[in-house]
Amino acid sequence: MTNLPNPRTQYTTDDFPKQFQEPPGLQNQMDPLPDCGETSYVGSGKLAGRKALVTGGDSGIGRAAAIAYAREGADVAINYLPVEQPDAEEVKKLIEAEGRKAVLIPGDLSNEAFCQKLVEQANAELGGLDILALVAGKQQAVEDILDLPTEQLEKTFQINVYSMFWTVKAALPHLPAGASIITTSSVEGFDPSPMLVDYAATKFAIIGFTKSLSKQLAEKGIRVNSIAPGPIWTALQISGGQPQENIPEFGKGTPETPLGRAGQPVELSSVYVFLASPESSYVTGQIYSITGGMPTA
Ligand code: NAD
Ligand code: MG
Repeated sequence: MTNLPNPRTQYTTDDFPKQFQEPPGLQNQMDPLPDCGETSYVGSGKLAGRKALVTGGDSGIGRAAAIAYAREGADVAINYLPVEQPDAEEVKKLIEAEGRKAVLIPGDLSNEAFCQKLVEQANAELGGLDILALVAGKQQAVEDILDLPTEQLEKTFQINVYSMFWTVKAALPHLPAGASIITTSSVEGFDPSPMLVDYAATKFAIIGFTKSLSKQLAEKGIRVNSIAPGPIWTALQISGGQPQENIPEFGKGTPETPLGRAGQPVELSSVYVFLASPESSYVTGQIYSITGGMPTA
């Protein structure tokens, strides 16, 4: 008899302590620490020899993807903001512990010139590029649209949407047939919360971008898919993504998931790997929901 875990209790169901950090927040200051697979993700050579660029790779979902990619045999470049250097250094150590190359490229994705430089540097230092995992994102809850500053509106669209255009345009000359682009959308791109008007609009946009681009790039043999997470315990949420009163019951209260808890980043790792690997050879233009059961159709 195997010790089969119950998904309701496989990860913590405790209330989370309230905790605010200025965005983007440092994962290593969170209580409890998110689980990005640091001690648990086991690879099996699915991405041997591959070369991946992961935005937002310092923490949360991007860190989970970066760790899994390295454990599956890929060399990995990660992007993050300069203030996140301590989180990024932890990821670098984890990648190098697998005998893989880790390239750290801090910088701001809301700048087109930086997006171009990021891709060129990743391609040069990895000696090629065949996985583009676009995970970085900005989420700031604002209850009333009258209080939504234009600066936030612009930054949220630049980081969440424009940067995808800029990085993909820079990467395409380098991506071979068989390469995979993976965007990160959200349950907010299907069933938006009232206090996330700007963020939700970007997540709908990412879904449209993914579906359109997948059709355009199919003839090149490049697949484009998206992952739509539900409530996942990450720095994004405690640094203004949610009001602090939602933090204790995040994932079981507001928002409420059928599985009754927040997800952990490691619970997305296998899908970031699957969509990057040739195992998903007949999958393109799709949105994979990992939401604890929250509906996305
Ligand atoms: P996270 O805070 O750990 O990661 C987000 C990352 O975005 C940061 O680490 C930061 O490096 C990056 N980032 C933000 N602004 C940037 C900028 N200007 N330039 C460069 N990088 C920047 O949080 P996460 O939850 O792992 O977020 C990853 C993705 O998952 C985001 O796109 C988010 O919208 C999406 N998502 C998260 C949840 C959730 O509940 N946590 C749910 C649905 C979707
Ligand atoms: Mg971070």
